[in-house]
Amino acid sequence: MKRLAILGSTGSIGTSTLSVVESFPDRFEAVALAAGHNLDILREQVRKFHPALVSVAEAEDARALANEFPGVRWVHGIQGLIEAACHPSVDVVVGAVVGSAGLIPTLEAIRAGKDIALANKETLVVAGDLVIAAAREHGVQLLPVDSEHNAIHQALRVGPPSGVKRLILTASGGPFRTWSPERIRSATVEDALAHPTWKMGPKITIDSATMMNKALEVIEAHHLFGMPPERISVLIHPQSLVHSFVEYIDGTLIAQLSINDMRFPILYALAYPDRLPTPFTPLDLASAADLSFEEPDPARFPALDLARTALDEGGEIPAVLNGANEAAVAAFLGRRISFPAITEITAQVIDRWIPKNRPLESVEQALAADQAARAAASDLFAKYEALS
Ligand code: NDP
Repeated sequence: MKRLAILGSTGSIGTSTLSVVESFPDRFEAVALAAGHNLDILREQVRKFHPALVSVAEAEDARALANEFPGVRWVHGIQGLIEAACHPSVDVVVGAVVGSAGLIPTLEAIRAGKDIALANKETLVVAGDLVIAAAREHGVQLLPVDSEHNAIHQALRVGPPSGVKRLILTASGGPFRTWSPERIRSATVEDALAHPTWKMGPKITIDSATMMNKALEVIEAHHLFGMPPERISVLIHPQSLVHSFVEYIDGTLIAQLSINDMRFPILYALAYPDRLPTPFTPLDLASAADLSFEEPDPARFPALDLARTALDEGGEIPAVLNGANEAAVAAFLGRRISFPAITEITAQVIDRWIPKNRPLESVEQALAADQAARAAASDLFAKYEALS
């Protein structure tokens, strides 16, 4: 039996994880849940899964829920997230909070010796070197849930590390893959949220539309697999059935395929190193659409190049990229700035960042850079409001 803490239980990945738990009651148990404000879904989860501890964002919600569910320990805020992640009965922490809010609880879980099934890519973007070093020091496994990295994790089990030539991350291309640059400039929130192949939370859906999601994933892959940026490529694959490739030096490409349902990579990460029989409908290749691949167009999706810039600059610049992007995505979802402004603002914040070459030495420094980048992005909103 693996006992889980699910951070972000009410979100897209969190609910998919609980669907996997429900399918394997003798293999997985949800001991701790952590969510933000979606209390209706959380109540249902508590009734169904009987966790010992639950964290919510607000103290007053925790107090009210403690009266409703007296058998559960209710906690709140960042301390609550940490308590859920470090609960003594927990074996594996599923990191499915959105954004850099996931960094501290993930690090604390690592320090408490918990294995991590990580969906929250921003944790690795903001402080990848520190997180990977902590995982090594504490001997914990960091298993990727993100479908591309999960695919690469599987494909890397085929050959020795010395035989790997490069990693190829696939990308759906998002809703604007076939749009002209002029049309993209006037994309609405509704247009950007209409992802063609994946149903996900709003932040990652907007990141997929700008392709910033793929930029974040290049940084994530660099840290997870210790691969230099020049050996990580991106390939557009609109059907989202091939979740990524590893190219070996002998010319062999190993791909991983499954339907576009996150319960597949979640089941792999939770069961690892075992394989469990899937209760979910697997991919039927004969009835699948044709598989197609094309090179991404960095002119239409300039966010892609920002990953290379951030990795080349190193230090706190990836945290700056992430903080500026999170702030700009929230402003776009709040209809304050236009769609192209998300990437333009993020690029400007990086461009103006001084000093560029400060090495990243602590999590506090990464979070301070993240906060300062959000503030710098906010200072630019007014300019883009006028233009949008
Ligand atoms: P959602 O927006 O659907 O869910 C986010 C979850 O985090 C919710 O449970 C939310 O709680 C909770 N949350 C947010 N902020 C806080 C906070 N400060 N304290 C406590 N809980 C918080 O996001 P997704 O599930 O789509 O994505 C989660 C992560 O997984 C992201 O990093 C994303 O990039 C990554 N990912 C997602 C994929 C997907 O298919 N969705 C695929 C690959 C990676 P509440 O709603 O209750 O407020």
